[in-house]
Amino acid sequence: MMKKADVKKSMMYTIDLTKIDGDGAFPCPKCGTIISPDDETEENYQIIETKVKNDELAELILMCGKCGSTIKLVGFLSQPVE
Ligand SMILES: [Zn+2]
Repeated sequence: MMKKADVKKSMMYTIDLTKIDGDGAFPCPKCGTIISPDDETEENYQIIETKVKNDELAELILMCGKCGSTIKLVGFLSQPVE
């Protein structure tokens, strides 16, 4: 039951950027690694998918480089994302 790197769709965390103070950095919901948009080394995270609406970034799906959790970032746009 302790298989690691077993990718499951259910392990998706959602982070709402409108609820984050400061520069947009946030800890991984699972392991606590600080994921910062200013970190361009991709050591702490990898961008998996970006979704763009009306030429604006709407969603960003990334993977924590430490624990492999999939994290969905929402809240780039001012309008609510359903
Ligand atoms: Zn993590």
